[in-house]
Amino acid sequence: MRFNDRSWCGHIRLSDSGRAIRLMGWVDALRNHGDVLFIHLRDMSGIVQVVFNPEELQLDIYRRAESLRNEYCILVDGHVVSRADTTENPNIETGRIEVIASDLTIFSRCATLPFSISEKAMIRGGTAAGGGPVSEDLRLKYRYLDLRRPTMQENLRKRDAIMQCVRACLHRRGFIEIETPLLTKSTPEGARDYLVPSRIHHRRFYALPQSPQLFKQLLMIGGMEKYFQIARCFRDEDLRPNRQPEFTQLDIEASFIDEEFIYELMENLVVEIFAVSGIQCKTPFPRMTWEDAMDTAGTDRPDIRFGLRFVDATGIFEHTNYGIFRNIIEKGGCIKGINVKGRSGDLSKNVLQNDYAKEIVPSFGARGMTWMRVVDGKLESNIVQFFSENERYGLRERFQAENNDVIIMIADQSPRIVNEVLGLLRLHLANRLNLIPRNDFAPVWVTEFPLFEQTRSGLASNHHPFTAPRRTDFDPANIDELLRLRSRAYDLVINGEEVGGGSIRINDRHLQVKIFQALGLSDADVEEKFGFFLNALGYAAPPHGGMALGMDRMISMVLGTASIREVIPFPKNRNAYCPLTDAPSHVSYRQLSELGLLDSTGGKWVEGRKVL
Ligand code: ASP
Repeated sequence: MRFNDRSWCGHIRLSDSGRAIRLMGWVDALRNHGDVLFIHLRDMSGIVQVVFNPEELQLDIYRRAESLRNEYCILVDGHVVSRADTTENPNIETGRIEVIASDLTIFSRCATLPFSISEKAMIRGGTAAGGGPVSEDLRLKYRYLDLRRPTMQENLRKRDAIMQCVRACLHRRGFIEIETPLLTKSTPEGARDYLVPSRIHHRRFYALPQSPQLFKQLLMIGGMEKYFQIARCFRDEDLRPNRQPEFTQLDIEASFIDEEFIYELMENLVVEIFAVSGIQCKTPFPRMTWEDAMDTAGTDRPDIRFGLRFVDATGIFEHTNYGIFRNIIEKGGCIKGINVKGRSGDLSKNVLQNDYAKEIVPSFGARGMTWMRVVDGKLESNIVQFFSENERYGLRERFQAENNDVIIMIADQSPRIVNEVLGLLRLHLANRLNLIPRNDFAPVWVTEFPLFEQTRSGLASNHHPFTAPRRTDFDPANIDELLRLRSRAYDLVINGEEVGGGSIRINDRHLQVKIFQALGLSDADVEEKFGFFLNALGYAAPPHGGMALGMDRMISMVLGTASIREVIPFPKNRNAYCPLTDAPSHVSYRQLSELGLLDSTGGKWVEGRKVL
């Protein structure tokens, strides 16, 4: 069989000189030197140069070679020769040899290409072509061509290596990979469901899983004890640049464990994932309570690669004569700030006043900001004259201010606004002043989240309703008390991005019912949505917990790609649309009618049942 004795383009080396070989792949680039034709032949292993010399070839074979164009799919027979020093190509790994062709088969010709696929320079020192300037939608429309580019091939290969490493690591620790259904009932993870209408059960719908949450908990009740799955999840959320309607999570659950088990397991896993790309990560990862994260970085996704921690200055101004601050403190507000160490040279009065105080900070949602520069051991700004000597001294002490430091403070009646705005300002300044070490990876666990949050439509779970609270003796009707409750949830944040999260779960039926009551669900709601699950909890559920790691995001981070779409073979674009298949698309009336979604006589939409 002619496919059997194939060699790989990218593996040929100088030691193969003189060997007869057979290659298959695509024409990456062509060049005609007088009568001698040179091509770069590419397969999944790499690129090699092939030479068609009219003096050594039968005329019909040479003519065939002349008809080659970019991306033709071909087979070449030939032999390997070393190149003369002057013609070596350091841009490709096989650059010290070339293949002298003796025969050529064209498997298939290629239509006019929508964009250049070759990434390797044909000529030494030449610049690489490739996907850079091509619009992403065009790349996605022709994803099968885009995938031929070595960069995409490498990304998917690394993705595979990471998945393999994850599987091996979990298997080593006794976890079992188990699949859970895709056609199922909704599990609340805070997004809308993708619904799938049923033809057999008219006007009823499956939901695609937002996560396998309930099934993995049922597996624990089923005694499986250590589960994992590389699970596809579906969430119909608002569009954001780095979000996909379907995405891949590493989903994990284990029984008879607590938080420490999860931290240790996940830290080792993350270390191994980064190691696939040669990146070292130190364990144990630091931990921060949610409250601490909010207080010092203004977000539950703190980027700890740089300082600029918040300093609370409220106490300094308790007896102030400065009206604005006095007023804010009297109304329960606070004053917090950051010290931008040694950067007064980059933050002139003009920049601080006109850019930050007048434009940037108001766009973040605060009314204003206070700035001070430290010059000759003294605070200097348009406002310090309103502060007493004690207050100035207090500020210098509290912020550990030294010459050339810049102190920036936000004061507001709402501590939430102060934290939020200062959090955004912290990131803005870090980016502007290049304070973020780009090649560092700084994981941190965020713990002790509030169990509930207040939304416009009432109380909602901060993670999901199956998360165990830290205290169980609460009154489900007391909103203030509920809002003070903390959960046994944890998020893993790396470089300011949430890459995963999970929790210790509720394994007591009564407690689960209490949580549903706190969420304002009626008994009928609970029965209709979660009856099957509450039933299961009645049959001796073990203590259990778990976590999910967003694999697209993790892999994108490890590989340093600009977006998660670079590590997903067939992603949707930023509008949740697939330019390749044109999905989502219209369906025929017949299909709708078969599904019971159309009254076939009148061509009308069938009304939905009033559901919860
Ligand atoms: N189901 C959760 C999620 O998808 C993760 C977990 O709690 O294990 O975010």
